[in-house]
Amino acid sequence: MDAQLEILLEMQDLRAQKRALEEQGLGEMESELFDIEPEEAARRIDEKLGELEDRLDGSVRHRYERLKGARERMVVPVVGGICYGCFMAVPTAWTSDAERNEAVDVCDNCGRFLYHLG
Ligand SMILES: [Zn+2]
Repeated sequence: MDAQLEILLEMQDLRAQKRALEEQGLGEMESELFDIEPEEAARRIDEKLGELEDRLDGSVRHRYERLKGARERMVVPVVGGICYGCFMAVPTAWTSDAERNEAVDVCDNCGRFLYHLG
């Protein structure tokens, strides 16, 4: 898999974890049950996200910065030639075995990053 795509997927996981922390209510969690405070956990996630963002190439990073505020999920799977961000067909040229996940693809319709599941 393309290294940039791996970074994007890792960032997406971290963002989902951070959202989960926020949705559970940072202040309401029983903090004595945890080794670190939820606020500290969220701060560490932000730190890690910053590190990962620094490793993105120029054009990928530029697109990430446009996506990160607006989209729930910025990396979505392509299944059977369909983008699972917007549920539109993606060009068949991208769905060939040779090109799968060997470069960072972007959906023409919704602009999300794509990874191919089959
Ligand atoms: Zn799409």
